Amino acid sequence: MDSKFKQTFFFTFLLFGIVLTTVSAQEDNSAKIPAKGYAAMTAGRRFVPYEFERRGVGENDVLIEILYAGICHTDLHQVMEDWRKGIFPMVPGHEIVGRVSQTGKNIQSVKIGDYAGVGCMVNSCGECEQCRKDEEQYCPKTIWTYNCLDTDGIPSQGGYSDKIVVNEKFVVKIPEEAPLERMAPLFCAGITTYSPLRYHRVKPGDNLAVAGFGGLGDMAVQYAIAMGAKVTVFDVNEGKRQSAIDLGVAKFVNVRNEKELDGLNGSFDLILSTIPTRYDAGMYLRMLKVDGAMVLLGMPPKDQTPIIPAAALTGRRKIYASLIGGMKETREMLDFSVKNKIYPHVEIIPIQKLDEAFQNLAEGKAPFRYVIDMKSLNDAK
Ligand SMILES: [Zn+2]
Ligand SMILES: [Zn+2]
Repeated sequence: MDSKFKQTFFFTFLLFGIVLTTVSAQEDNSAKIPAKGYAAMTAGRRFVPYEFERRGVGENDVLIEILYAGICHTDLHQVMEDWRKGIFPMVPGHEIVGRVSQTGKNIQSVKIGDYAGVGCMVNSCGECEQCRKDEEQYCPKTIWTYNCLDTDGIPSQGGYSDKIVVNEKFVVKIPEEAPLERMAPLFCAGITTYSPLRYHRVKPGDNLAVAGFGGLGDMAVQYAIAMGAKVTVFDVNEGKRQSAIDLGVAKFVNVRNEKELDGLNGSFDLILSTIPTRYDAGMYLRMLKVDGAMVLLGMPPKDQTPIIPAAALTGRRKIYASLIGGMKETREMLDFSVKNKIYPHVEIIPIQKLDEAFQNLAEGKAPFRYVIDMKSLNDAK
């Protein structure tokens, strides 16, 4: 190679390199995205406006402009550090719906303008036994929507905010005809109750009970009735009796009224407990038939574990806890909900009412589900 040719070759190569770098820089969507929301700056129930950054939209990511976010009892547990130490500032929220505003180059399941939802998880390893079984919620490396370190070591932040970037696998398309303001709670309360009902293959004629008639109970009752079960609801709040009857339950039992508990022992195939505080599970376990099961869905603080008397388990009665559901099942739950028009009962609030909503939640005075209208984020505090 003579030197002139070498020089030309070198410069051509250099030029090619520059062009290539420029093109890839134009296609590089990894620039961070400014986001704003409400965060708890330290442990407690106090929220303030908070600005932060979302990661850029990678080739397998979807950017969602958040329209509504549900307030789950878990959000209260997390900010109060009821289960473990929290990562602050914390933007809670794992019941998220919105509109897709940007997609990475590999995205096929949604397009810009579609409505989409995100629940409690935003990623998992994709390779372990649980991931291969479509049960990403039990993957040892699940990335939770907030209060968790993402793969880049940065804390994940949830749905009490204006936008979120999520791996496509954890984004679910919402059909156009669905009532968007009621959809967010399906992504936690919905799947949390749907999954154990499916696991137990609930069928017409099954005798089922739901203990605790709040956000989860509301969904559990509706799904169980749609699957043909005969449903009894247990709660301490007499004011909820009519709502339960309106949904078509066979019976509402006020557990504070001992008379109403008579004659129930040995009668249920399945009991779903959504109670988020300490209680005596023995009373419910004794109401199970032989081989019946009680599933814990509400997760009380670590110092308020339910009391589980071993003797009440005689008769091969089982008790276990279930956690949301995998993404495949979440899509199935969404189809089932839309087909059967099963939606949560919600009260829409502006984000400025967060402190008040959390206070009510802590005192057991909240409606079935608060849902934040994210349009309010731009309003004055
Ligand atoms: Zn939740
Ligand atoms: Zn995994």
